[in-house]
Amino acid sequence: MNDTSKAPINWPATLMLLLTSLPVILILPFYLWQRDVSAAAWIWALVFLGLNELSITAGYHRLWSHRAYKAQPALKWFYAVFGGMAVQNSILIWATAHRVHHAHVDDVDLDPYSAKRGFWFSHLGWMLRDYPASKPDFSRSPDLLEDKVVMFQHRHYLWFAFGSNFGLVMLLGALYGDMAGFVLVAGFLRLFVSHHLTFFINSLAHCWGRQPYTTTNTARDNDLLAVLTWGEGYHNYHHLFQWDYRNGIRWWQFDPTKWWIAAWARVGLASGLRRVPEFKIQQARVQCQLERARAAMEGRSAHARYVELKAQIDAEWQHLTEAGARWAHLQSEKLTAAKEQIRSRWEQSEFKHRMELKALELSVRLQHRRVALLLRRQIAMA
Ligand SMILES: [Zn+2]
Ligand SMILES: [Zn+2]
Repeated sequence: MNDTSKAPINWPATLMLLLTSLPVILILPFYLWQRDVSAAAWIWALVFLGLNELSITAGYHRLWSHRAYKAQPALKWFYAVFGGMAVQNSILIWATAHRVHHAHVDDVDLDPYSAKRGFWFSHLGWMLRDYPASKPDFSRSPDLLEDKVVMFQHRHYLWFAFGSNFGLVMLLGALYGDMAGFVLVAGFLRLFVSHHLTFFINSLAHCWGRQPYTTTNTARDNDLLAVLTWGEGYHNYHHLFQWDYRNGIRWWQFDPTKWWIAAWARVGLASGLRRVPEFKIQQARVQCQLERARAAMEGRSAHARYVELKAQIDAEWQHLTEAGARWAHLQSEKLTAAKEQIRSRWEQSEFKHRMELKALELSVRLQHRRVALLLRRQIAMA
């Protein structure tokens, strides 16, 4: 491991975080004690908070870091302005670093905000020094270098950040006749809250919650965190299927970023929304369960009950492997049909295939319940 603790201090980021936090900690409480802040300042603080967070989650993150969908220029400009207002660096730098995070997740040297270096480091510490992992490697982002909105915002980032945070907030303060209230609440407090809610995705979403889809990294699914982070709390799913425009894939899961993207798709400002096939999601869930079951069986006695349980787990594994192979076969048949332009022939048999795909999906869904029962038995035996 590199001795990165001696990395030089990143003064611009450190000063920015310090100077935007101090008024919230040192001035705001006394101001609220002595004076009233207008309702308009509180309402605009919430509006800006929502717009900033959505620009980060739907724009910086799902659009630019992961290309989970395509957006029309109007939507991109919106993200560039309100994402710039969130003061989390330019889209180019943010998205490039985030791609490195996914490629090297948890690696203490290569992941810029590795959770394996502790909560504080992944939340905030990584920004305070010029760690080698944070050095932007734009060879990962050729698509972003060609995106006009991204490059314009990158070149004029300070204008975006200062113009929105001071210009816009002070303009509203003047209009409503509550300059100090607007600067403190819709300006500093809103920015402080927005910062830490986003930072939670790198810290809390890598240590607090469940791991239904993969245990190969520290990412977690957490419903409460999803509420605080505009849907980004389903981070375990996200780290396995990063290009899905959804993070909370179930209808009941709180993912306003997903609803926002889907709403813009309806009016034509977003398109090409990418989804992981349901079968793949179910397969990942059952595989994760079975890996857990197998790990728990290791080192167990050769008692007949365990032998029987182990045989059942092996059979389930076999079932999953076969279903996966059949699914892959059906998909490749579909692709070949499209490639060879024999669509008509494919379409004749499409109904049958679709039914078979549905049946496979259902069989793995049922398998998930079966294996859950096995796991319960296993725990009871332990
Ligand atoms: Zn992550
Ligand atoms: Zn991501």
